[in-house]
Amino acid sequence: MTIPTIDSEFLISFLSGLLNTPSPTGLAEPAIAFTEQALLSFPGLSLKRTRKGALVATWVGEKSDAPRALTAHADTLGAMVKQIKSNGRLMMAKIGSYAWNTVEGEGCMVFASSGTPARGSILLEMASGHVHGAKVNDTKREDDNMEVRLDARTTSKEETEALGIRVGDFIAFDPRLEITSGFVRSRHLDDKACVACLVAAIKTLYDAGLKPTQTSYWHISNYEEVGHGAAAGIPVEATELLCVDMAAVGEGQTSDEFHSTLCVKDSGGPYHHGLSQKLRQLADEHAIPYKVDIYPYYGSDGEAFWRAGGDVAVALIGPGVDASHNYERTHLDALLATTQWVVAYLLS
Ligand SMILES: [Zn+2]
Repeated sequence: MTIPTIDSEFLISFLSGLLNTPSPTGLAEPAIAFTEQALLSFPGLSLKRTRKGALVATWVGEKSDAPRALTAHADTLGAMVKQIKSNGRLMMAKIGSYAWNTVEGEGCMVFASSGTPARGSILLEMASGHVHGAKVNDTKREDDNMEVRLDARTTSKEETEALGIRVGDFIAFDPRLEITSGFVRSRHLDDKACVACLVAAIKTLYDAGLKPTQTSYWHISNYEEVGHGAAAGIPVEATELLCVDMAAVGEGQTSDEFHSTLCVKDSGGPYHHGLSQKLRQLADEHAIPYKVDIYPYYGSDGEAFWRAGGDVAVALIGPGVDASHNYERTHLDALLATTQWVVAYLLS
C-alpha cells in the first residue's frame, strides 16, 4: 500500500502554534493543552491526562493483540528565577541541559507567580562593550554571571518583587520562529517538531479514512528534558514504543535536515534491534528518505521508560535538527519523512 499524502500546511500551522506556546519543563501544560485541543477534532481518539500531566491519546485499531505506543515531548529547555539580585535583575537556574551562550541575547518571558508575565532578555552581566571592553568576549558564561534584564522600571529587589516575581518563577526563551523556503528555524524544534509529526500522522490516517493496524497510544510527554518524561504514562498493554525525537546534526553525523533518522544507539546504549530493523524495512519499502545514526550526547524518553522498568521494544526516529539545544533549524522534507515513517509504522 502507498502512504497517503501528508497535509504539510496543517503540519506547519500546528507546529507554528505549538512553538509559539511557551512550555519549559515544569510549566509545559499550555503545550499539552494546545496539543489536546488539536486532537479533539479527531473523534474516535480518546484523550486523557496522566497525573504527572502528560497527554495520552488512544486509538483503537483493527487489532489489539500487540498494542503500540508512540511518544514525543512538548516540554522544552528553559530556566527558573534562582535569585532576585539587589539591582532588580534575575539570576537563573537552568532547566535542562544547554550552554548559556546559546541563549545569550534572547528575549524571554518571566511567568511571575503573583503578577502578569514580564518580558525581558538574557544577558551576560558585563554586557556592554563600551563599559567592559574585552571582558564581554573573554568571560566564561556561568550561572552566576548571566542574568535576566527585565523590561520594567526596577533597580532593586523590592521593585522586582513588586512586579510579582519570586524565586522559582519559570522563564521561557522566545522561540524566534521563522520559516523560509521550507526551512523551519526556531528554538525548541526539540521536540515540538516531532509532536507535530505525530499529530499530522493522525490527521493523515483520518483524512484517508484509515485506522491503525494495532491499537495505538500517543504519549505526549511533559518532563523529557530533565530525563524522566515517559518514565510514567505509557499504557502497560503496549508491546512497542516508538520514540519520536530530533536527530542530532553536525560533524561526524549522518543525519541532516532533509531526512528522518533512525537512531540505533545513543548515550543510553543500543535501541531494540528488531524494531529498528522493522523501521528500516518500512522506510525502504515506502522510499522514505532516511539515515541511520548514532548520537554521542543524547538520551531519550524511550530510555526513560526502559529505566523505569518498561517492558517493550523501543526504537527512536526523528527529523534532523541542526544546532540542537541552540537556535535550531530543520526542513519540511525531514518533517514529512518523519510523518510518513510514523504513518507507515501505524499501518504496518
Ligand atoms: Zn528531545
